Amino acid sequence: MNLGLPWQKCNLPECLVRERLLRCGACGIALYCGAEHQKADRLRHKASCGLVKQTREKLREEKTAAGELWQRAPTSSCILAHFDAMLAALNIRTGEAVDAALAHAFTMLRLAPLDKSGVHGYVPPMYLRLGRDQAAYDFVKWWAVAEPGDDRGWHDTALAGDDVLEPLQVLTRLKGMVQLSMIISMVLLKMRLMLDLMGLQALRNLALEKAGRLPTMEEKMGFVKEEAMSDVLLSRPDVVGRADFEDVIEDLVCQVKMLFTFVQERNQHFWQAILKPEPYANAEPTACILGSKEEVNLLFRQCWYSWSETEPAITTIRDMIRKGRVPANNR
Ligand SMILES: [Zn+2]
Ligand SMILES: [Zn+2]
Repeated sequence: MNLGLPWQKCNLPECLVRERLLRCGACGIALYCGAEHQKADRLRHKASCGLVKQTREKLREEKTAAGELWQRAPTSSCILAHFDAMLAALNIRTGEAVDAALAHAFTMLRLAPLDKSGVHGYVPPMYLRLGRDQAAYDFVKWWAVAEPGDDRGWHDTALAGDDVLEPLQVLTRLKGMVQLSMIISMVLLKMRLMLDLMGLQALRNLALEKAGRLPTMEEKMGFVKEEAMSDVLLSRPDVVGRADFEDVIEDLVCQVKMLFTFVQERNQHFWQAILKPEPYANAEPTACILGSKEEVNLLFRQCWYSWSETEPAITTIRDMIRKGRVPANNR
């Protein structure tokens, strides 16, 4: 997969060791090839590590208290402790950290399915950062089609593996969703799939031009495994097996456009902020009005890394923001 997030790698940025890694004892998240590199990375890692350690201790206290009162409903301070632990983990920018944050998110959703703290808005961008686009789609769809008060679990297996290429109309409640980050994630998800398919189309055209034949299924799957940003095509031999991808791409271009416009209608500042992320990327979200500039701070906390870590997608979306359409030079 073609992802920008480091995963199973020594936390010292310049070290590329991926084997026999040891976990940092304080945060339990960062990995190192040995004590030497842990020491060398100490200054950079210290702040985020300390924050995770602190939130983990708080969580332990909450769990001890909850253990004594096991028959009572989860307290809001317990949910809050998980929320802080999730945000703290996200300060460390590795796959392991996002994985840990995702586990906190699902614990919160299990403890409080009505999700008044808005955890669900964080989940799809985290899945996307891990290259788990199919899981991101399943989650968004679950949210969009489940009835309010539905007591099915968040991981409804009946829905898992749904067709990412199906028409947007399936997502009946999409427009009513409170969390704009869910829809922004759908733009990224559909765009990554669109770009992956454009890559396959380019592979096809090249094979025709150079060898006078279509690429084999093996060649195409090789491309998906190595170069794709999304995991969706890995389980879609029906799509990868096609001789031509133009009409699937065309469908996705339409879907991206619709979702893009919808985000623009809900918050006119967000796409402009993607062009100039600096003031938003590190801002502390405050209480905000939907559609306001302050909402962009929150949306950036939820979504920004999922975009910034996917180089081809950020380039394409910026072209699209400037030109108002999916640019032809990506085709
Ligand atoms: Zn650490
Ligand atoms: Zn190392």
